[in-house]
Amino acid sequence: MRYVDEYRDPELAKGVAARIAAEVDAARHYRFMEFCGGHTHAISRYGVEDMLPRNVAMIHGPGCPVCVLPVGRIDDAIRLASDPRVTLCTYADLMRVPASRGASLLKARAAGADIRMVYSTLDALRIAEAEPEREVVFLAIGFETTTPPTALAIKQAKAKALRNFSVFCNHVLTPVAMRAILAGESDEATALDGIVGPAHVSTVIGARPYEFVANEYGKPVVISGFEPLDVMQSILMLVRQINEGRCAVENQYVRAVTHDGNARAQREMDDVFELQESFEWRGLGMVPHSALRLAEAFAAFDAEKRFGIHTVAAADNPACECGAILRGAKKPTDCKLFGTLCSPETPMGSCMVSSEGSCAAHYAYGRFRDRSRARMERAAS
Ligand code: SF4
Ligand code: SF4
Repeated sequence: MRYVDEYRDPELAKGVAARIAAEVDAARHYRFMEFCGGHTHAISRYGVEDMLPRNVAMIHGPGCPVCVLPVGRIDDAIRLASDPRVTLCTYADLMRVPASRGASLLKARAAGADIRMVYSTLDALRIAEAEPEREVVFLAIGFETTTPPTALAIKQAKAKALRNFSVFCNHVLTPVAMRAILAGESDEATALDGIVGPAHVSTVIGARPYEFVANEYGKPVVISGFEPLDVMQSILMLVRQINEGRCAVENQYVRAVTHDGNARAQREMDDVFELQESFEWRGLGMVPHSALRLAEAFAAFDAEKRFGIHTVAAADNPACECGAILRGAKKPTDCKLFGTLCSPETPMGSCMVSSEGSCAAHYAYGRFRDRSRARMERAAS
Protein backbone atom coordinates (compact mmCIF):
# COMPACT_ATOMS: atom_id res chain seq x y z
CA MET A 1 0.00 0.00 0.00
CA ARG A 2 1.55 3.29 -1.03
CA TYR A 3 2.15 5.97 1.62
CA VAL A 4 1.96 3.52 4.53
CA ASP A 5 4.20 0.56 3.66
CA GLU A 6 7.02 2.94 2.76
CA TYR A 7 6.99 4.23 6.33
CA ARG A 8 7.09 0.70 7.78
CA ASP A 9 9.75 -0.81 5.51
CA PRO A 10 12.00 -3.02 7.71
CA GLU A 11 15.07 -2.59 5.49
CA LEU A 12 14.79 1.19 5.56
CA ALA A 13 14.24 1.01 9.34
CA LYS A 14 17.44 -1.02 9.73
CA GLY A 15 19.25 1.65 7.71
CA VAL A 16 18.02 4.49 9.95
CA ALA A 17 18.81 2.42 13.06
CA ALA A 18 22.35 1.90 11.76
CA ARG A 19 22.71 5.67 11.20
CA ILE A 20 21.51 6.41 14.74
CA ALA A 21 23.94 3.82 16.13
CA ALA A 22 26.78 5.29 14.09
CA GLU A 23 26.08 8.87 15.10
CA VAL A 24 25.34 8.62 18.84
CA ASP A 25 28.17 9.59 21.13
CA ALA A 26 28.89 6.51 23.26
CA ALA A 27 30.01 8.75 26.13
CA ARG A 28 26.63 10.40 26.68
CA HIS A 29 22.96 9.59 27.27
CA TYR A 30 20.09 10.82 25.11
CA ARG A 31 16.69 11.03 26.81
CA PHE A 32 13.88 11.96 24.46
CA MET A 33 10.27 12.46 25.50
CA GLU A 34 7.59 11.56 23.00
CA PHE A 35 4.89 13.95 24.18
CA CYS A 36 2.09 12.29 22.27
CA GLY A 37 0.31 9.03 23.08
CA GLY A 38 0.08 8.21 19.37
CA HIS A 39 3.89 8.05 19.28
CA THR A 40 3.97 5.96 22.46
CA HIS A 41 1.65 3.49 20.77
CA ALA A 42 3.75 3.40 17.56
CA ILE A 43 7.02 3.01 19.49
CA SER A 44 5.64 0.03 21.43
CA ARG A 45 3.83 -1.54 18.52
CA TYR A 46 6.76 -1.48 16.10
CA GLY A 47 9.50 -2.13 18.66
CA VAL A 48 11.29 1.15 17.91
CA GLU A 49 13.06 1.12 21.29
CA ASP A 50 14.62 -2.26 20.44
CA MET A 51 16.30 -0.69 17.42
CA LEU A 52 17.93 2.10 19.44
CA PRO A 53 21.36 2.01 21.10
CA ARG A 54 21.26 1.50 24.88
CA ASN A 55 22.17 5.13 25.56
CA VAL A 56 19.11 6.45 23.70
CA ALA A 57 16.03 6.27 25.95
CA MET A 58 12.45 7.15 25.08
CA ILE A 59 10.42 8.70 27.90
CA HIS A 60 6.65 8.59 27.58
CA GLY A 61 4.89 11.92 28.03
CA PRO A 62 1.40 13.14 28.93
CA GLY A 63 0.00 13.33 25.39
CA CYS A 64 -3.12 11.23 25.76
CA PRO A 65 -6.25 13.24 26.50
CA VAL A 66 -7.96 10.31 28.21
CA CYS A 67 -4.97 9.75 30.50
CA VAL A 68 -4.58 13.35 31.65
CA LEU A 69 -8.22 13.99 32.56
CA PRO A 70 -8.22 14.09 36.38
CA VAL A 71 -10.48 11.98 38.58
CA GLY A 72 -12.48 15.03 39.71
CA ARG A 73 -13.66 15.74 36.16
CA ILE A 74 -14.76 12.12 35.63
CA ASP A 75 -16.66 12.37 38.93
CA ASP A 76 -18.34 15.52 37.53
CA ALA A 77 -19.33 13.68 34.35
CA ILE A 78 -20.80 10.80 36.36
CA ARG A 79 -22.80 13.22 38.55
CA LEU A 80 -24.02 15.01 35.42
CA ALA A 81 -25.11 11.75 33.79
CA SER A 82 -26.99 10.80 36.96
CA ASP A 83 -29.35 13.75 36.40
CA PRO A 84 -32.48 12.07 34.95
CA ARG A 85 -32.92 14.91 32.42
CA VAL A 86 -29.42 14.42 30.95
CA THR A 87 -28.08 12.33 28.07
CA LEU A 88 -24.28 12.38 28.31
CA CYS A 89 -22.44 11.78 25.02
CA THR A 90 -18.87 10.60 25.23
CA TYR A 91 -16.07 8.78 23.42
CA ALA A 92 -15.74 5.06 24.18
CA ASP A 93 -12.33 5.27 25.88
CA LEU A 94 -13.66 7.55 28.61
CA MET A 95 -16.26 5.00 29.67
CA ARG A 96 -13.72 2.84 31.50
CA VAL A 97 -11.52 5.49 33.13
CA PRO A 98 -11.56 4.91 36.89
CA ALA A 99 -13.22 7.62 38.96
CA SER A 100 -13.55 8.00 42.73
CA ARG A 101 -14.65 5.01 44.87
CA GLY A 102 -14.29 2.52 42.00
CA ALA A 103 -16.88 4.30 39.86
CA SER A 104 -16.73 4.79 36.07
CA LEU A 105 -19.06 6.03 33.36
CA LEU A 106 -19.54 2.41 32.30
CA LYS A 107 -20.76 1.45 35.77
CA ALA A 108 -22.97 4.57 35.91
CA ARG A 109 -24.55 3.50 32.62
CA ALA A 110 -25.11 -0.02 33.93
CA ALA A 111 -26.85 1.59 36.93
CA GLY A 112 -29.28 3.38 34.62
CA ALA A 113 -27.64 6.68 33.56
CA ASP A 114 -28.28 7.70 29.96
CA ILE A 115 -24.73 7.68 28.63
CA ARG A 116 -24.20 7.18 24.92
CA MET A 117 -20.98 6.55 23.03
CA VAL A 118 -20.42 8.78 20.03
CA TYR A 119 -17.75 9.04 17.35
CA SER A 120 -17.95 12.80 16.86
CA THR A 121 -19.44 16.03 18.13
CA LEU A 122 -21.90 15.88 15.23
CA ASP A 123 -23.36 12.60 16.57
CA ALA A 124 -24.13 14.42 19.82
CA LEU A 125 -25.72 17.31 17.90
CA ARG A 126 -27.91 14.85 15.98
CA ILE A 127 -29.11 13.28 19.23
CA ALA A 128 -29.98 16.75 20.59
CA GLU A 129 -31.98 17.54 17.45
CA ALA A 130 -33.76 14.19 17.45
CA GLU A 131 -34.63 14.26 21.17
CA PRO A 132 -35.57 17.83 22.11
CA GLU A 133 -37.00 16.68 25.46
CA ARG A 134 -33.53 15.53 26.64
CA GLU A 135 -30.64 17.73 27.85
CA VAL A 136 -27.81 16.45 25.64
CA VAL A 137 -24.31 17.13 27.03
CA PHE A 138 -21.19 16.41 25.01
CA LEU A 139 -18.21 15.49 27.20
CA ALA A 140 -15.45 17.22 25.23
CA ILE A 141 -11.84 16.19 25.81
CA GLY A 142 -8.63 16.45 23.86
CA PHE A 143 -5.75 18.63 22.83
CA GLU A 144 -5.82 21.15 19.96
CA THR A 145 -6.64 18.28 17.58
CA THR A 146 -10.20 17.75 18.76
CA THR A 147 -10.95 21.32 19.80
CA PRO A 148 -11.91 22.76 16.36
CA PRO A 149 -14.68 20.14 15.83
CA THR A 150 -16.11 21.01 19.25
CA ALA A 151 -16.02 24.70 18.29
CA LEU A 152 -17.88 23.95 15.05
CA ALA A 153 -20.54 21.90 16.88
CA ILE A 154 -21.15 24.76 19.31
CA LYS A 155 -21.45 27.23 16.43
CA GLN A 156 -23.89 24.91 14.66
CA ALA A 157 -25.95 24.50 17.83
CA LYS A 158 -26.13 28.28 18.10
CA ALA A 159 -27.06 28.68 14.43
CA LYS A 160 -29.84 26.09 14.86
CA ALA A 161 -30.95 27.66 18.16
CA LEU A 162 -30.68 24.26 19.87
CA ARG A 163 -31.66 24.83 23.48
CA ASN A 164 -31.01 21.30 24.75
CA PHE A 165 -27.34 20.97 23.70
CA SER A 166 -24.32 21.87 25.82
CA VAL A 167 -20.64 20.99 26.13
CA PHE A 168 -18.74 19.93 29.25
CA CYS A 169 -15.42 21.37 28.13
CA ASN A 170 -12.14 19.65 29.03
CA HIS A 171 -10.00 20.78 26.11
CA VAL A 172 -6.34 21.25 27.09
CA LEU A 173 -3.32 22.89 25.50
CA THR A 174 -0.17 21.07 24.43
CA PRO A 175 2.56 23.76 24.58
CA VAL A 176 1.50 24.77 28.10
CA ALA A 177 1.75 21.16 29.30
CA MET A 178 5.17 20.88 27.67
CA ARG A 179 6.28 23.97 29.58
CA ALA A 180 4.98 22.45 32.85
CA ILE A 181 7.00 19.28 32.23
CA LEU A 182 10.17 21.20 31.41
CA ALA A 183 9.72 23.51 34.39
CA GLY A 184 9.32 20.48 36.69
CA GLU A 185 12.41 18.65 35.45
CA SER A 186 14.74 19.54 38.28
CA ASP A 187 12.21 18.38 40.94
CA GLU A 188 11.66 15.04 39.31
CA ALA A 189 15.18 14.33 38.11
CA THR A 190 13.62 13.79 34.70
CA ALA A 191 16.13 15.76 32.68
CA LEU A 192 15.27 15.54 29.01
CA ASP A 193 17.57 16.11 26.04
CA GLY A 194 14.86 16.68 23.47
CA ILE A 195 11.21 16.23 22.56
CA VAL A 196 9.48 14.30 19.80
CA GLY A 197 6.68 16.77 19.06
CA PRO A 198 3.08 15.68 18.49
CA ALA A 199 1.70 15.03 15.04
CA HIS A 200 -2.07 15.70 14.90
CA VAL A 201 -1.81 18.60 17.33
CA SER A 202 0.87 20.21 15.18
CA THR A 203 -1.24 19.98 12.03
CA VAL A 204 -3.53 22.45 13.82
CA ILE A 205 -1.13 24.71 15.74
CA GLY A 206 1.93 24.38 13.48
CA ALA A 207 5.58 24.25 14.55
CA ARG A 208 5.84 27.83 15.81
CA PRO A 209 4.31 27.31 19.33
CA TYR A 210 7.19 24.99 20.34
CA GLU A 211 9.88 27.60 19.79
CA PHE A 212 10.00 28.44 23.52
CA VAL A 213 11.33 24.91 24.17
CA ALA A 214 14.44 25.72 22.14
CA ASN A 215 14.70 29.40 23.08
CA GLU A 216 13.97 29.24 26.81
CA TYR A 217 14.87 25.67 27.75
CA GLY A 218 17.66 25.03 25.25
CA LYS A 219 16.20 21.72 24.04
CA PRO A 220 15.52 20.56 20.50
CA VAL A 221 12.05 19.57 19.29
CA VAL A 222 11.36 17.47 16.20
CA ILE A 223 7.73 17.23 15.16
CA SER A 224 7.21 13.67 13.98
CA GLY A 225 4.78 11.62 11.95
CA PHE A 226 3.27 8.48 13.49
CA GLU A 227 4.80 5.72 11.38
CA PRO A 228 7.84 3.86 12.75
CA LEU A 229 10.19 5.33 10.15
CA ASP A 230 8.89 8.82 10.95
CA VAL A 231 9.70 8.33 14.61
CA MET A 232 13.13 6.84 13.90
CA GLN A 233 14.04 9.65 11.53
CA SER A 234 12.91 12.16 14.18
CA ILE A 235 15.15 10.48 16.75
CA LEU A 236 18.07 10.72 14.30
CA MET A 237 17.30 14.42 13.77
CA LEU A 238 17.31 14.97 17.56
CA VAL A 239 20.59 13.07 17.94
CA ARG A 240 22.15 15.22 15.22
CA GLN A 241 21.01 18.48 16.81
CA ILE A 242 22.46 17.44 20.16
CA ASN A 243 25.75 16.28 18.67
CA GLU A 244 26.06 19.57 16.80
CA GLY A 245 25.23 21.56 19.95
CA ARG A 246 22.10 23.00 18.34
CA CYS A 247 18.55 23.34 19.62
CA ALA A 248 15.79 24.24 17.21
CA VAL A 249 12.28 23.23 16.28
CA GLU A 250 12.54 20.96 13.25
CA ASN A 251 9.71 19.40 11.34
CA GLN A 252 10.04 15.78 10.20
CA TYR A 253 6.30 15.57 9.43
CA VAL A 254 6.47 17.97 6.49
CA ARG A 255 3.72 16.10 4.65
CA ALA A 256 1.15 17.38 7.16
CA VAL A 257 2.60 20.10 9.41
CA THR A 258 3.51 23.67 8.49
CA HIS A 259 5.20 26.41 10.48
CA ASP A 260 1.97 28.28 11.20
CA GLY A 261 -0.55 25.43 11.19
CA ASN A 262 -4.18 25.51 10.12
CA ALA A 263 -5.37 29.14 10.30
CA ARG A 264 -9.05 28.25 9.82
CA ALA A 265 -9.03 25.73 12.68
CA GLN A 266 -7.22 28.23 14.93
CA ARG A 267 -9.84 30.90 14.11
CA GLU A 268 -12.69 28.55 15.02
CA MET A 269 -11.04 27.82 18.38
CA ASP A 270 -10.40 31.50 19.07
CA ASP A 271 -14.00 32.38 18.23
CA VAL A 272 -15.58 29.92 20.62
CA PHE A 273 -13.12 29.40 23.49
CA GLU A 274 -11.11 31.43 25.96
CA LEU A 275 -8.33 30.48 28.38
CA GLN A 276 -9.16 29.11 31.82
CA GLU A 277 -7.06 30.57 34.63
CA SER A 278 -6.02 27.12 35.78
CA PHE A 279 -6.90 23.48 35.12
CA GLU A 280 -5.96 20.24 36.82
CA TRP A 281 -4.05 17.61 34.83
CA ARG A 282 -3.63 14.09 36.07
CA GLY A 283 0.04 13.86 36.98
CA LEU A 284 0.86 17.54 36.58
CA GLY A 285 -1.55 19.08 39.09
CA MET A 286 -3.00 22.56 38.55
CA VAL A 287 -1.42 24.14 35.46
CA PRO A 288 -2.14 27.84 34.80
CA HIS A 289 -3.67 28.77 31.42
CA SER A 290 -3.56 25.17 30.22
CA ALA A 291 -7.20 24.62 29.26
CA LEU A 292 -10.11 26.25 27.46
CA ARG A 293 -13.67 27.14 28.39
CA LEU A 294 -16.52 28.52 26.32
CA ALA A 295 -16.33 32.27 25.67
CA GLU A 296 -19.10 34.50 27.00
CA ALA A 297 -20.83 34.66 23.59
CA PHE A 298 -21.41 30.89 23.80
CA ALA A 299 -22.07 30.66 27.55
CA ALA A 300 -25.58 29.28 26.89
CA PHE A 301 -23.90 26.08 25.60
CA ASP A 302 -21.58 25.69 28.60
CA ALA A 303 -22.67 22.65 30.62
CA GLU A 304 -20.68 23.83 33.64
CA LYS A 305 -22.84 26.95 33.83
CA ARG A 306 -26.09 25.26 32.86
CA PHE A 307 -25.76 22.53 35.50
CA GLY A 308 -23.72 24.43 38.11
CA ILE A 309 -20.71 22.08 38.01
CA HIS A 310 -18.07 22.85 40.67
CA THR A 311 -15.23 20.36 40.39
CA VAL A 312 -13.86 18.90 43.61
CA ALA A 313 -10.32 17.53 43.28
CA ALA A 314 -10.12 13.79 43.97
CA ALA A 315 -7.11 11.56 44.48
CA ASP A 316 -5.98 8.73 42.19
CA ASN A 317 -5.76 5.18 43.49
CA PRO A 318 -2.71 5.49 45.80
CA ALA A 319 -1.02 2.40 44.30
CA CYS A 320 -1.35 3.70 40.73
CA GLU A 321 1.73 5.34 39.22
CA CYS A 322 -0.11 7.06 36.33
CA GLY A 323 0.81 10.52 37.64
CA ALA A 324 4.54 9.79 37.64
CA ILE A 325 4.29 8.08 34.25
CA LEU A 326 2.53 11.10 32.74
CA ARG A 327 5.35 13.36 34.02
CA GLY A 328 7.93 11.05 32.47
CA ALA A 329 9.30 10.14 35.91
CA LYS A 330 8.42 6.41 35.80
CA LYS A 331 7.71 3.61 33.33
CA PRO A 332 4.66 1.31 33.32
CA THR A 333 6.70 -1.59 34.71
CA ASP A 334 7.61 0.56 37.74
CA CYS A 335 3.99 0.18 38.89
CA LYS A 336 3.42 -2.91 41.01
CA LEU A 337 -0.14 -3.21 39.69
CA PHE A 338 1.02 -3.42 36.05
CA GLY A 339 -0.11 -6.64 34.39
CA THR A 340 -1.41 -8.09 37.68
CA LEU A 341 -4.31 -6.16 39.22
CA CYS A 342 -4.22 -3.65 36.37
CA SER A 343 -4.78 -4.76 32.78
CA PRO A 344 -6.81 -3.40 29.84
CA GLU A 345 -9.76 -5.58 31.02
CA THR A 346 -9.51 -4.30 34.60
CA PRO A 347 -7.84 -0.86 34.42
CA MET A 348 -6.91 0.65 37.79
CA GLY A 349 -5.56 3.85 36.23
CA SER A 350 -6.18 5.94 33.13
CA CYS A 351 -2.90 4.96 31.41
CA MET A 352 -4.26 1.42 30.98
CA VAL A 353 -7.51 2.51 29.30
CA SER A 354 -6.82 4.23 25.98
CA SER A 355 -4.63 2.54 23.38
CA GLU A 356 -2.55 5.74 23.47
CA GLY A 357 -1.87 5.27 27.18
CA SER A 358 1.65 4.17 28.12
CA CYS A 359 0.52 1.23 30.24
CA ALA A 360 -1.93 -0.06 27.62
CA ALA A 361 0.72 0.24 24.88
CA HIS A 362 3.33 -1.55 26.97
CA TYR A 363 0.82 -4.22 28.02
CA ALA A 364 -0.18 -4.88 24.40
CA TYR A 365 3.31 -5.03 22.90
CA GLY A 366 6.24 -4.26 25.20
CA ARG A 367 5.75 -6.89 27.90
CA PHE A 368 6.43 -9.75 25.46
CA ARG A 369 9.69 -8.11 24.44
CA ASP A 370 10.56 -7.60 28.13
CA ARG A 371 10.10 -11.34 28.69
CA SER A 372 12.16 -12.43 25.70
CA ARG A 373 14.89 -9.91 26.59
CA ALA A 374 14.99 -11.28 30.14
CA ARG A 375 15.20 -14.85 28.77
CA MET A 376 18.07 -13.90 26.47
CA GLU A 377 19.92 -12.17 29.32
CA ARG A 378 19.43 -15.23 31.55
CA ALA A 379 20.69 -17.52 28.77
CA ALA A 380 23.75 -15.31 28.21
CA SER A 381 24.70 -15.20 31.93
S1 SF4 B 1 -4.90 13.23 19.12
FE1 SF4 B 1 -3.09 12.71 17.94
S2 SF4 B 1 -1.58 14.28 18.47
FE2 SF4 B 1 -3.21 14.38 19.99
S3 SF4 B 1 -2.51 13.10 21.67
FE3 SF4 B 1 -3.79 11.80 20.38
S4 SF4 B 1 -2.40 10.86 18.94
FE4 SF4 B 1 -1.30 12.58 19.86
S1 SF4 C 1 -0.34 -0.19 35.58
FE1 SF4 C 1 -2.39 0.61 35.96
S2 SF4 C 1 -2.36 1.36 38.03
FE2 SF4 C 1 -0.24 1.14 37.35
S3 SF4 C 1 0.34 3.13 36.50
FE3 SF4 C 1 -0.43 1.91 34.81
S4 SF4 C 1 -2.60 2.42 34.70
FE4 SF4 C 1 -1.89 3.15 36.70
